[in-house]
Amino acid sequence: MSLKILFVSTSVGSLGSGQGGGVELTVKNLAQELTNRGHQLEVVAPQASWLTNILVTTIQGNLQVPVQTQNRDVPICIPDNSVLANMWEYARQVQTQYDLIVNFAFDWLPFYLTPFFTTPIAHFISMGSMTDASDRIMQQIIEQYPGTFGVYTQSQADTFPFAHQCEILGSAIDLSLYQFNHYPSASLTWLGRIAPEKALEDAVKAVSLTGTPLKIMGRIEDRDYWEKICNDFPKAPIEYLGFLDTNQLQQELGKCRALLMTPRWVEAFGNVAIEALACGVPIIAYRRGGLRRSCEMARQVF
Ligand code: UDP
Repeated sequence: MSLKILFVSTSVGSLGSGQGGGVELTVKNLAQELTNRGHQLEVVAPQASWLTNILVTTIQGNLQVPVQTQNRDVPICIPDNSVLANMWEYARQVQTQYDLIVNFAFDWLPFYLTPFFTTPIAHFISMGSMTDASDRIMQQIIEQYPGTFGVYTQSQADTFPFAHQCEILGSAIDLSLYQFNHYPSASLTWLGRIAPEKALEDAVKAVSLTGTPLKIMGRIEDRDYWEKICNDFPKAPIEYLGFLDTNQLQQELGKCRALLMTPRWVEAFGNVAIEALACGVPIIAYRRGGLRRSCEMARQVF
């Protein structure tokens, strides 16, 4: 049966900007695969978003502040002319054209709005527990609408008081976009959003001690944090390559000897882990959060 599905993307950045982190790849891959399976898809996302061969409706407005930069007891904050509110106003207007709406934002508002919509809303939860207010609204909604919350991993689900009610969906990538490289260089790679929860400094400290070259790719989300790492380790053998698209990323990633993953938080999944595996690149990671699962997969592959 072909379904009409409306995806409402993350409110922290445009698709293609890197601000949304792994959610951007998840939205892209799910939209592509559901289209391949004959479903009709529309993606609603902040201004300047784009996806190849998928209908994207872009919405103007001010972005949300990423919740992982805030404390657990932070009140719910929505900026003036909020893109989050504008995207959900659009979803409300077009809802009768759809069988299902899928929310990819971690924000309080889409959970709160769920009972007010006539079209069912499913929620793809992209991070572990972040704030008391979001845990509370999620708990209320999952009790009212069981079976509507998807998460990446059990480790992520376990951070929530409603862990046993989450559906574990995992993550996936389009393997045809990644090439296996038989001839790795001597370099290691680190990739992702450059932000404190990813603890890039641990990887830079490690290569400062070993002298192994480290290539870094990803969007600098927190410039002060990046500059502090550069100042703290002035002689580290690191090279910053910028934020790369998937094709450039897999080319660089495929050349490296191993991927270092050093998150400080409970990484919900770590999409970069499966991207590395798709290029035949082993992962050296903390045994924590969703990465425990990636490491188990890696052990099966190598
Ligand atoms: N990424 C990218 N270009 C880069 C570095 C990273 O497109 O130069 C993407 C990568 O493909 C992955 C995402 O950034 O999809 C990071 O996702 P992950 O799940 O590892 O972490 P998150 O940012 O969601 O915490």
